[in-house]
Amino acid sequence: MRIQLLPSTFDAQGVATLEQRLTCFVIDDCVAVDAGSLAIALTNEQRAKVKDIIVTHPHMDHIASLPIFIDDLYPNLKEPMRVYATQEVIDLLERDVFNWNVYPRFSDLKNDYGPVMEYVPIPLGQPFQVAHLTVVAVAVNHIVPTVGLVVGDGKKSVAFSSDTAQTDEFWKIVNGMKELDALLIEASFPDRMARLAHVSRHLTPASLDLELKKLNHNGLDIMAVHLKPSYRKEIIEQLNALKIPNLRVMEPGRVYEW
Ligand SMILES: [Zn+2]
Ligand SMILES: [Zn+2]
Repeated sequence: MRIQLLPSTFDAQGVATLEQRLTCFVIDDCVAVDAGSLAIALTNEQRAKVKDIIVTHPHMDHIASLPIFIDDLYPNLKEPMRVYATQEVIDLLERDVFNWNVYPRFSDLKNDYGPVMEYVPIPLGQPFQVAHLTVVAVAVNHIVPTVGLVVGDGKKSVAFSSDTAQTDEFWKIVNGMKELDALLIEASFPDRMARLAHVSRHLTPASLDLELKKLNHNGLDIMAVHLKPSYRKEIIEQLNALKIPNLRVMEPGRVYEW
């Protein structure tokens, strides 16, 4: 399974930088997990292939360019863009984003070929299919309804925490997997901001360390994501100080293979 965290910031020359301001992972060039930078950082080849988008929660950094992505492709879509989310999240997207004020309600619109956007409600705790992938979604502990995901392609499995504070359900599902090859987990704030991390339901390196003690799998790659750009250096120092084997910070733009 090939996974890329799309870049979301570019320097004046247009070169991607390491700061992560938006969240969007692309799996095997065709399935997106969240859509923060989906419209702005795909290659043309990927843009032609992505038809399935899983939205973990409706925060702006995870959906910022979803409306633009569909808008861009609108006239040429020969099948609807499928947006997978829990019914709760679908309702929030319809109410707050695709509401004719912020952007058109694409789920009601058609081009010359038919509907352009279709919601696929996803269950919690039960496997469902997204393109060639089998996915299990699990509620995590964030300030709005949010799911973490375990994604498998039949050979490899990768878990995504999405945005979360301390959680137990996620680890139950993750530990129930026979094997796990990688865990992509958030580390939003430095330890000195534990209070803000708590009220906004995010992790710090110290609370990430506590969460990882619940993980039963060994030897997998652990990738820290969602580091707030203003504190990036400090968070990385604190993550390194944990001395957890196989823990790295995921680089936007780079393709990882498991
Ligand atoms: Zn969030
Ligand atoms: Zn976020």
